[in-house]
Amino acid sequence: MQVILAEALGFCFGVREALALAEQTRDPGSVTIHGELVHNEQVLERLEARGFHSVSEDARQALPVTPRVMITAHGISDRERTRLESAGLRLIDTTCPLVRRVHREAQALADDGRHVLIIGRPGHVEVQGLIEDLPSVEVIDRPQAVRHYHEDRLGIICQSTTSPQFAAEIHAAIRSANPEADIEFVDTICQPTRDRQEAMRKLLPQVDGVVVVGGRNSNNTRALAALCAAAEKPVWHVQTAADLDPAWFRGCQTVGLTAGTSTLDETIDEVRAALVRL
Ligand code: SF4
Repeated sequence: MQVILAEALGFCFGVREALALAEQTRDPGSVTIHGELVHNEQVLERLEARGFHSVSEDARQALPVTPRVMITAHGISDRERTRLESAGLRLIDTTCPLVRRVHREAQALADDGRHVLIIGRPGHVEVQGLIEDLPSVEVIDRPQAVRHYHEDRLGIICQSTTSPQFAAEIHAAIRSANPEADIEFVDTICQPTRDRQEAMRKLLPQVDGVVVVGGRNSNNTRALAALCAAAEKPVWHVQTAADLDPAWFRGCQTVGLTAGTSTLDETIDEVRAALVRL
């Protein structure tokens, strides 16, 4: 079976920088990671082995017991930042600059008096950080969820890891359901997500199916798998080489391989080697 790698896959600069900052952090035992530094189980296990404390994303309302807290690449709201700092905690901030941009754009739309519509996944930590600072906001995760809004000024932004095609569909649905509204759309999808989606698009015609490597909670990994499924190609989302099942590939001549932005290089190499062995 031939294995073809996507032209762009795996770690983005935002994840690399977050991990580099964690790597440089002295005395990890005095630091609590505020959620999952990146959505990748192998990475989280390594951080725990180094001595970092962590709280699950659902339990972040409790204040960390350590003197320092590490903000993840997904960012937090200003409200949450103030809450942590007022409790005397020192922040180590690994928020990706491209997530900061989403916050800035969302705030600018709100300051302009617009009801903000976020195209993204409700409950995702990045989205959570965005909505907490906005006075008038809704999250839309599918075109069917779009409705006619009572506000006549709307502002649209995207979670940074949204698939561009998906965002375009929802954007069009909002315009169609609100023809009278003054709508401003700001495309805040990050370039690494765009590059990986584009690489997947190029890969699809060349392969019988695609293996997508990445964390189960990773939004951009799920978006890659969804793109493949939408093209009606078989897709297998795995976290490590151990998840591969040889039975999946019966009759497969060529398989594509891609990975989300929080997938370790070595995990990609292991999956590739396992596929080649098949
Ligand atoms: S996926 Fe995009 S927004 Fe998220 S850390 Fe990477 S570069 Fe930043």
